[in-house]
Amino acid sequence: MKIPMLDLSEQYSILKDEVLSKLDEVMSSSQFILGSHVKQVENDIAEMSKTKNGIGVGNGSDAIHIALQAAGVCEGDEVITTSFTFFATAGAIARANAKPVFVDIDPVTFNIDPSKIEAAITEKTKAIIPVHLYGQMADMDPIMEIAKKHNLHVIEDAAQAIGSEYKGMQVGEMSSAATYSFFPTKNLGAYGDGGMIVSNDDDLSEQARIIRVHGSKPKYHHHILGYNSRLDEMQAAIVSVKIPHLSSWSENRRKHAAYYTEKINNAVAENIVTPVEVENRYHVFHQYTLRVEKRDELQAYLKEQGIATMIYYPVPLHTQPVFKELGYKEGDLPETEKAAIEALSLPMFPELKKEQQDYVIEKIVDFYS
Ligand SMILES: *Cc1c(COP(=O)(O)O)cnc(C)c1O
Repeated sequence: MKIPMLDLSEQYSILKDEVLSKLDEVMSSSQFILGSHVKQVENDIAEMSKTKNGIGVGNGSDAIHIALQAAGVCEGDEVITTSFTFFATAGAIARANAKPVFVDIDPVTFNIDPSKIEAAITEKTKAIIPVHLYGQMADMDPIMEIAKKHNLHVIEDAAQAIGSEYKGMQVGEMSSAATYSFFPTKNLGAYGDGGMIVSNDDDLSEQARIIRVHGSKPKYHHHILGYNSRLDEMQAAIVSVKIPHLSSWSENRRKHAAYYTEKINNAVAENIVTPVEVENRYHVFHQYTLRVEKRDELQAYLKEQGIATMIYYPVPLHTQPVFKELGYKEGDLPETEKAAIEALSLPMFPELKKEQQDYVIEKIVDFYS
């Protein structure tokens, strides 16, 4: 058996007629830039996030960058975030000419540890970016409390967590803004790049709308420096077909996760730590990520058996060569560095079959026995 990390083909065969007719709609209308589909997706996703505004942008990385810029983050400012995330989180901070300040993670959730944030705040700190890694929201209550006390913006990097919840609150509902990615492998993926900012802050949202069109308002008048980063109309049309399915896809991911967890804990609990869904969270399992002993050997063994796995992320951002100037060294963020050695993500997508999961579990058990 061959089991990929992610298989988008079955989903496409189900959605094909609708997708093709939507694309035809766009091409026949000749409205290719910021047309009605972008508007509709902005409204639908803002509504889902219980926010007043949705701003479609070119990709999830630009969404973070533009949200920071719209929040007034600029040269010389510091932005606190996690080192255990995709590069884009810190890349966006640096592109806004600000300095990423890395805080260690909570080993249970892999998300930023709120108890370590205050020690990292200086008079230059302007914002905190919690990343809702693997599909589970970071511990927002203490983060928002710290932000209020120190008058900081909170921008949620929710690229992996669309549809996730925290104590009944949606992504984007509590903070200054949240950002999504429609990269094809994300839980709500386009067939190319795309992203969105959602926000209850009307001023921030207005700024973001201006920044995505070269800082132009009114047209051809530029008071701020923006650039070209808009959600593409064709990608918006594709996303609009997928939105009605998102909650059932999340439910399927959760079922698969529960199945993995039950079977793995029954068989190899002493070698593996299964993911924890913290009480009062709704984890959407963008990734199903274990902590395992002998991670690299297990990964190689599973590969021989035809099973794809991934390491998210093997190199913490504070040790990336590009951030050398920031002055971090190995040992500075022990929980992050430990996670980078132990984390292993298993195949996960809504259409994953029970037989495929059984095969993955069987081979993991084989490895440890
Ligand atoms: C995917 C991802 C991004 C970037 O999204 P793109 O659309 O690929 O630019 C940012 N942050 C995290 C945590 C991601 O997983």
